Amino acid sequence: MPKPEDAGALSRIREQIQIPLICDIHFDYKMALATLDHPIDKIRINPGNIGGPERFRQVVRKAKERGIPMRIGVNAGSLEKELIDKYGFPCPPAIVESALRSIEIAEAEGYDQIVVSLKSSDVLVAVESYRLFAQLADYPTHIGITEAGKPPYAVTKSAAGLSPILLDGIGDTVRISLLGDPVPEIAAAFDILQATQRRVRRPELIACPTCGRLAIDLEAIIAELEQRLAGRRLPVKISVLGCVVNGPGEAREADIGIAAGNGKGMIFRNGEIVRRVDEKDIVDALMAEVADWEATNAHKIAATQPMAQGVEGIGRRKLPLVMG
Ligand code: SF4
Repeated sequence: MPKPEDAGALSRIREQIQIPLICDIHFDYKMALATLDHPIDKIRINPGNIGGPERFRQVVRKAKERGIPMRIGVNAGSLEKELIDKYGFPCPPAIVESALRSIEIAEAEGYDQIVVSLKSSDVLVAVESYRLFAQLADYPTHIGITEAGKPPYAVTKSAAGLSPILLDGIGDTVRISLLGDPVPEIAAAFDILQATQRRVRRPELIACPTCGRLAIDLEAIIAELEQRLAGRRLPVKISVLGCVVNGPGEAREADIGIAAGNGKGMIFRNGEIVRRVDEKDIVDALMAEVADWEATNAHKIAATQPMAQGVEGIGRRKLPLVMG
């Protein structure tokens, strides 16, 4: 169980790390007040378990005095009893009302360095909560499906919940909550941001699922492409199709495409055939096209670079979703 004196470690931790230091406080408002004596970058408070409006107000006053942003982290599993009594269960209006009540208290204190999360382990409840909140307030949101469970299902469940939110343009920071090792949470978050095009961090590789018409070793080609493109922050779409029956039509849709068969590959740029290559040269040829695309699309590449650094999603601005 954390003790108030443990907060003393925060200053030492701050000196030794280069990333934002965020304190997630539950139950004990005195712990929240103690952490605000240290150079932290943000504090997270769950309004449902911090001990009522007066205690929350004290934390807000001190956060304001210290210039430290706050996440109001509402969780369906720990809503204020009064709201459960009012609505009967932790439904989206109850979750959103909890956030709005806390915002009201904070704004009455002249404090608006707020980001809000509205988490539930129920995908439908989470999606509707974020949508409802976005209609009623313009504070940035931290999004996630809490307690998603064990991968791989938990990753699919997180994607199912976060995708509609992200595609609606909602969300400023993100957390994927997986059982066990937290490191895979980062890759899952980046994949969901990439798939929803909220944060393009690497080339989008499109490959057909393969079928009886497959005429090349598509898996080997994709594996080599993935390896050679690793770490490249290019918002280019590359389509690799395994036959010349349906392949050409689909390859035309990408920035760079190839439809292969009978030992040859037809390379497309923006829908036009630009050349034919032998199967053994397909990966080299695609990499040459990528280099050429990079040289001629500086404006698209610049548009995908991070626009904010440091503590993210703070304040009333609508920031692009930024990670890493
Ligand atoms: S592109 Fe060709 S090989 Fe690939 S799935 Fe479609 S028909 Fe099959």
